Amino acid sequence: MGACIFCRIVDGGIPAKIVHQDEQAVVFEDINAQAPVHLLVIPKRHVASAQDCQEEDQALLGHLLLTCSKMARMKNLAESGYRIVTNIGADGGQTVPHLHFHVLGGRHMAWPPG
Ligand code: AMP
Ligand code: ZN
Repeated sequence: MGACIFCRIVDGGIPAKIVHQDEQAVVFEDINAQAPVHLLVIPKRHVASAQDCQEEDQALLGHLLLTCSKMARMKNLAESGYRIVTNIGADGGQTVPHLHFHVLGGRHMAWPPG
């Protein structure tokens, strides 16, 4: 039992509103939603961030991005548009050191980000 909160969500130690899972990924609602739809797409295996991915993680990264677009379709965001974000490290604003893609939608997203 590790200390990583997203690993705890994967192993069921911490409850989450899980909306989808498969062999490699889990998708759940962000506890502090920043948009009408705010999902987190994470690998079941602990990887600290996109920066920590290796060549052998190529298929996993592709699977996670395709899962994001699948979730967007499920939430009816595909036509209106949405945003996929992954924060990396301190300046990137990463607060949980387990790779995750935010899927944000249901409102207009401003640019540049804050
Ligand atoms: P980041 O700041 O990019 O690392 O994103 C971490 C995200 O995880 C934030 O949007 C948090 O609201 C979210 N979060 C943290 N703990 C939980 C939890 N137990 N269940 C769901 N979302 C969480
Ligand atoms: Zn983890």
